[in-house]
Amino acid sequence: MTQMNITGKKEMMRVAIIANSKYQSRRIAAKLFAILKDDPDFYLSKKNPHVVISIGGDGMLLSAFHKYERELSHVRFVGVHTGHLGFYTDYRDFEIDELIENLRKDTGEKVSYPILKVKITLDNGREIKSLALNEATVKRIEKTMVADVIINHVKFERFRGDGISVSTPTGSTAYNKSLGGAVLHPTIEALQLTEISSLNNRVFRTLGSSVIVPKKDKIEVIPKRLGSYTISVDNSTLHCKNVAKIEYCINSEKISFVATPSHTSFWERVKDAFIGDLDS
Ligand code: NAP
Ligand code: MN
Repeated sequence: MTQMNITGKKEMMRVAIIANSKYQSRRIAAKLFAILKDDPDFYLSKKNPHVVISIGGDGMLLSAFHKYERELSHVRFVGVHTGHLGFYTDYRDFEIDELIENLRKDTGEKVSYPILKVKITLDNGREIKSLALNEATVKRIEKTMVADVIINHVKFERFRGDGISVSTPTGSTAYNKSLGGAVLHPTIEALQLTEISSLNNRVFRTLGSSVIVPKKDKIEVIPKRLGSYTISVDNSTLHCKNVAKIEYCINSEKISFVATPSHTSFWERVKDAFIGDLDS
């Protein structure tokens, strides 16, 4: 609940609440707001929060992450899901009281996960840098994308196909999984490179399987043709003309979540999301 400042005095926990536009999310946000605003342990503030509470689903947590991505060193996130259990959400909408009690008892503990740093260099030298919590993809829509894939300075393959995805461990259950990538436990600090519909025949060859790249290795994708590329970073999309290079590595700073006493195991979440009840 309280944070120590340098003088050793206890500070109120500054909390930002953000919710998606769904009725249930707005209702929960209003409830949380009403409780916290009169509570002497908390101070509601969208600026400089200690804790960001995202209400909605995993998609909403992605938005919350991007809103506060420049404050990762001192912000911790909490996800409240208004549907089923999510991957970035530790609380369900009926567990608001439990959430408040846990924040009151909070001692600053956190659980942190790797995020992806992407640098896009255009032909004219312009650089676009972003961070991704789930993944970044590059696609060429009109024609086959041809690109060299370089892993840790090794020219690995010449890719032909729709595009390439590079995902974080926590993003491995999102788009990466739909592409046939592996599910990676979030304590493994690695990136996963996954192909999007590669062309493979007796002339053109790619590895075909997804590749899991360790923390120290950099991935580079060098498009071989001019034209327009569609680059997505989590839930946002950029259209870039004449991309010279895209570089991917694990960011030096991680995303942190408030450690939850009743944290659901990752495998429980995977099972709940994709397999369901085995007894039925
Ligand atoms: P969206 O299209 O509204 O939702 C994408 C779905 O992915 C939602 O059901 C979301 O869960 C879920 N999701 C998000 N992060 C996840 C994670 N780490 N593990 C498992 N499921 C996850 O878009 P959005 O909500 O803004 O999310 C953007 C994300 O959509 C992208 O980062 C990408 O991973 C994913 N996506 C997937 C595909 C695909 O599978 N073919 C295509 C494009 C984008 P909630 O319902 O809890 O929000
Ligand atoms: Mn969503």
